[in-house]
Amino acid sequence: MVARSALIYLSRQEGLKDFATQFPLFKKLTARFVAGETIEQAADAIREINARGASASFDHLNESVSRVAETEEEVREYLRVLSRIDDTGIRSNVSIKLTQFGLGIDSELAYKNARVVVEDAARRGNFVRVDMEGSDVTQITIDIFKRLHAEYGENTVGIVMQSYLRRTVDDVKDILKMPARIRICKGAYNEPASVAFPDKKDVDDNYVRIMQMLLSSGVYHGIATHDEKMIEATVSFAAKNNIGKEAFEFQMLYGVRRDLQEQLARDGFNMRVYVPYGAAWYPYFMRRLAERPANVWFIAKNLFRP
Ligand SMILES: Cc1cc2nc3c(=O)[nH]c(=O)nc-3n(C[C@H](O)[C@H](O)[C@H](O)COP(=O)(O)OP(=O)(O)OC[C@H]3O[C@@H](n4cnc5c(N)ncnc54)[C@H](O)[C@@H]3O)c2cc1C
Repeated sequence: MVARSALIYLSRQEGLKDFATQFPLFKKLTARFVAGETIEQAADAIREINARGASASFDHLNESVSRVAETEEEVREYLRVLSRIDDTGIRSNVSIKLTQFGLGIDSELAYKNARVVVEDAARRGNFVRVDMEGSDVTQITIDIFKRLHAEYGENTVGIVMQSYLRRTVDDVKDILKMPARIRICKGAYNEPASVAFPDKKDVDDNYVRIMQMLLSSGVYHGIATHDEKMIEATVSFAAKNNIGKEAFEFQMLYGVRRDLQEQLARDGFNMRVYVPYGAAWYPYFMRRLAERPANVWFIAKNLFRP
C-alpha cells in the first residue's frame, strides 16, 4: 500500500518525469505498457489486437495540460486518430481525459475541446469514452459528460466510474437513469479514506455490486479489470441472469494479462484493449507500476542488468 502511494506520488513529480523521459533505457522498458509514440505505432498494435479477436480504444497519453495551445493540439491529435481509424478500418474507439483538454485551465475550454472530438466521432459513427481521473475532478467530469451526452447520446459518448470511491454507487444510479454507457474500473489514483475505500476488499465488493447494476440495466457497458475474481463474478452473474455475451464487453490494458484477453475473446466475449501511445507516457507508466509490485522488480531488473 505504501509502495503504491509512493509510486503514484512519483507519477506527479515533474523533475523525475523530465529525467525518466530522457533516459533511453527507461523509455524502452515502457514498451510493455505503451504501444509507441505515434498513431502509426498504436494502429499497428491495434491491428494485432484485432487479429486476436479483440477491439481497442486509442488513448493519446497526456494529462494535466496547462497551456491552451497544447489542449488544441490534443484535439487535432484525436481528430487524426478518428480519421486514421476510418482510413484503416481497424476496430477501435477512443478514450480521452478532460485534463488533457484543459480541465485544469478552464472547465469550459475542456468541454469545448471534448465536444469537437465527440462531434467528429458522432459524424463517423465512432465512440468516445471519457476517462475518470482524480477525485478533485470527479464532479466536473460527470457534469461535462452529461452535457456531451445530452447533445450526442449514449452511442457516441460514455464515461468511467471507479469502484474505490464511496460516492460511485450513487453516481452509477444517476447515470443509469440517463441512460449512459459506463466503464467500471477499480480506480488508479491516490485518494484519501474520506472519499475512497482504503481496503481492497471493500473496493472489490463495490466493484461486484456495480457490475451487477450495470449488467442488469440493459445498456452496453464495459467491465474493465484484470482481476480473475471480478471476471468470474461477471461471467457467472451474466449466465445466471440470462444476460448474453453480446450485452457487455470486458476491457483490459495493453500489455496486461494478454493470456486472459485472448482466452475471453476465444470464449466468445467481447474484449476491448485500451491502447495508450504518445511521448507523455510517464504518469500512466508509473500508475501501472503502482498497481503491481512485481512490475517494479521487472523494471529494476532490466534497468540494472549488466
Ligand atoms: C480498460 C481500462 C481502462 C481504465 N480506465 C481507468 C480510468 O479511466 N480511471 C482510472 O482511475 N483507472 C482506470 N483503469 C485502471 C483501473 O482503475 C485499475 O487501476 C487497474 O485496472 C487495476 O485494477 P484491476 O481491476 O486489474 O485489479 P487489481 O486487483 O489491481 O489486479 C488484479 C490482478 O490483475 C493483474 N494486474 C493488474 N494491474 C496490473 C498491471 N499494471 N500490471 C500487471 N498486472 C496487473 C495482476 O495479476 C493483479 O493481481 C482502467 C483499467 C482498464 C483495464
